[in-house]
Parts: sequence; C-alpha cells; structure tokens
Amino acid sequence: MNICMIGTGYVGLVSGTCFADLGNKVICVDKDVEKIRKLNSGISPIYEPGLDELIRKNFNVGRLSFTDNLKKAIDNSELIFICVGTPNKKNSQKVDLSYVFNAVKKIARSTNRKKILITKSTVPVGTGDEIDKILKKLRRKNIDVISNPEFLREGEAIRDFRYPDRIVIGSNKKKHFRILQKLYQPLINKGSKFFTTSRRGAELIKYASNAFLATKITFINELANLCEQAQINVEDIALGMGSDVRIGSRFLRAGPAYGGSCFPKDTKGLASTGDKFQTDLTIVKSVIKSNENRKKLHIEKIKKILKSIKNKKISFLGVTFKPNTDDMRDSVSLKMIPYLCKKGAKVTYYEPTGEKKNFKHLRNCKYADNIKDTCKYADLIILHTEWDEFKSLEFNKIVKNRNYKIFDLRNLYNFEEMKNKKINYFSVGRPNIN
Ligand code: NAD
Repeated sequence: MNICMIGTGYVGLVSGTCFADLGNKVICVDKDVEKIRKLNSGISPIYEPGLDELIRKNFNVGRLSFTDNLKKAIDNSELIFICVGTPNKKNSQKVDLSYVFNAVKKIARSTNRKKILITKSTVPVGTGDEIDKILKKLRRKNIDVISNPEFLREGEAIRDFRYPDRIVIGSNKKKHFRILQKLYQPLINKGSKFFTTSRRGAELIKYASNAFLATKITFINELANLCEQAQINVEDIALGMGSDVRIGSRFLRAGPAYGGSCFPKDTKGLASTGDKFQTDLTIVKSVIKSNENRKKLHIEKIKKILKSIKNKKISFLGVTFKPNTDDMRDSVSLKMIPYLCKKGAKVTYYEPTGEKKNFKHLRNCKYADNIKDTCKYADLIILHTEWDEFKSLEFNKIVKNRNYKIFDLRNLYNFEEMKNKKINYFSVGRPNIN
C-alpha cells in the first residue's frame, strides 16, 4: 500500500519505517526541515535501538522516503497517518490539538482526491468528530477519518510495533476495518489481536490504557512510602501482589514519579476530557496529584540525606525518563537538577545518549561523558535512569570521596550487599539500612 506519515517523531518515524519493512511504500513528512535533512543523509533524529539500521535498509531499497513537501507526499498515498504531537496546553490539563488540526487543514487544502485520514496521535474523545467538522467547513466530503491509536513504548518501539498485543481501529464505517485489516495482516498473522470499535471508543481506549498503567505505578509508589515508614521491602509486596494473575506483576516497580512523553500528559488529558463530558474522574485526578507530590518528596529525601545541599557535589547517572531512549519530556531530572543547582549544589551528570540542551543554561551543572568522571568526587550519586550500564558498578573503586552516599531511585542494587560494602545507600520503599 502507499502510505504517508505526517510527523516523523518517535511514533511516525518508527511506525513508518516498520510499515515500509512490511513491504509498503512509505513517505514520511515533517515540517521540521532539519529533521528531514538528517533523515535524507542517513541520520536518525532520535535514539531508538535498531531504528537506524531499519531506516537505512528500507531507504536504500526505495520503500521509505522523507520530505517536507506535504502535497507531494499525499498525492499518491491511499492512507495518511497523522502522527504529530498532542501536548498539554500551557498551564492547562487540556490537550493542545493545534498540530493535529493544522495538519488536517493542510492535507485538505493539498488534494482534491479521495483519502483516508488515520489519527495515530493520542487524541481525546471526540477529536475525530472535530476533524469531520473542519473537513465539512472546507467542503471536503471525500476524506474519511479513522482512529488507530499507537501503543508502542520508546526503547522497545520496533518490537512493540512488530508484535503489538492489540491493534485498535475505531471507525463508524465498517468498510474501513477491511482496509486496515489488510494493512496489519502480517502482524495479525503472528498473533496480534485485531480489535474494532467506534471512533470515539478507540480514542478512549488509548487514554484509558495509559491512565490505568499510570495508576498502577502510582499505587505501588504510594505503598513504597508506607513500606519505608513500616520497614518493609516494597519489592516483596509487589511480588506477592503481582503473582495474582488478576493483578499482574508489570508496572509494580516503585521508583520516582512517572514521567515521559505520554503518562503525564495523557492522565491530564483524560481528566480534562472527563470534565468536558461532566464526569468527575476522581481516580485519575488523584493519580496526577500523587505523582506531582512524589517529585517534591524525593527532593525532600535528598535534603535529608545530605543535610545541606549548598556546595555538595551531586552526580546523576542517567537523566532520561527511562532507558534506551533519548527522550527528556517530563523526566523527573528536569525538576530535580535545576532545583539542586539553584540551592547551590554542583551537579555532574552522565547520560548514555549524550549531553542534554535542557541543562546547558544551568551554572552549576556539567556533563561528563563517562561514569568514572561523573562520580569520582561525588558526595551523593543519584541513580536516576535504569540503563544496563549502571547496574553492576563497583562504587568503592570509582568514588574517591570516602563519605559518599547513593540514592538509588530505581532499586538497582541489593541493599544488603551495599550494607556489607559499607556504602551509605538509600533506595525506594525498602527498609533503612543506615
Ligand atoms: P514527537 O514530538 O516526537 O513528533 C511529532 C512530529 O510531528 C515532530 O517532528 C513535528 O515536527 C511534526 N509535526 C507537527 N506538525 C506537523 C505538520 N503539520 N506537518 C508535518 N509534521 C508535523 O511526538 P511523538 O512522541 O512521536 O508522539 C506523536 C503522537 O503519538 C502523540 O500524540 C503521542 O501522544 C502519541 N504517542 C507517543 C508515543 C511515544 O512513546 N512517544 C507512544 C504512543 C503514542
């Protein structure tokens, strides 16, 4: 099939490349000219394991191409996927749909032909209806709108695209299900569930899924607070609970507040959709509040560990919201590092995906390109992101300062082993060993 992806970010680039790898002819469009220039010279603008090779393979055989020319891209495409960002509006829980609506208007003005528009972006309930209204105003009756939310995870995106648990298609017209089933047939053949529903239904499934996962994380994070007070190991609780198949063991790892490009904005987006439809989603709202409180709670814990922050050398291992991605959106480090610098700490960080522009303007913050230089003189090491390379470090050999402390936000180390090594070690939701 001839496919066009509008927006070549984490979702559009990965799914476009994977559609091409399934034998389709895919053209990816982005308004960011620099991104397109990079892609056309063989450089991926994002870090995603395995993506560079897959782009090269499909680009070289002519199945995958990149352009900033929307008109040219959609002319020959049967299916047009909208994969642009849907952030929250500034200082609001509401979803900013301007990128989606602008893309729709541009598409409608660029062609007179019959087209199928598919929203892969995460959009609130009723967005398909809003798009219909825009198309009606522009007198475009021959453009149909379908919802096909994306569930891939950054860091595992290619695997998730190839082996999704389910493919969700929302449309009010049955004929669309057949077309999308044909596109996804290679994945359905490997065992993925193909699930069809109304357009509004598909839109809500995506928000409901993300809000539920965020709830699970927040639940275990709150229990971790209780475990710390009651001298219980939260990992035992997660194991004991998670072994019940009705509960399931995943997303029960206590840690920092959830971050990233989806959960924070999608929980807020769902809460505001509830308000729009006069439905008070109290669980989702308290998850958002609990997660916000958690960011402050860990800063308080750092203050307690260090007694005073001023002039302390604090080293961060990892700053992205999770491993195997370069995505910094809503990472907890974005709150922690500027706060600690403001209070006079001297922060050094190492991040496997390189230096981040987010911290360049901070006076007391510097990047080191290896673990040793980051931690050598540390008063406190914060294990922020669980990259594999942080999981078996010999801290006593790396750190010169004999009184250093570790705050392990990801519970990467066995706390009894740390005690045996006489390391001042603090973790999340586990008994205090100091
Ligand atoms: P992103 O910010 O990485 O990429 C969006 C891209 O769209 C940018 O490159 C931007 O330049 C481009 N763009 C915006 N308007 C455009 C236009 N009119 N024409 C052409 N290009 C345009 O976003 P993302 O992380 O890929 O997310 C996209 C959507 O997918 C969001 O709704 C998000 O919630 C959803 N989603 C994201 C993930 C994830 O893990 N990142 C997973 C599932 C769903």
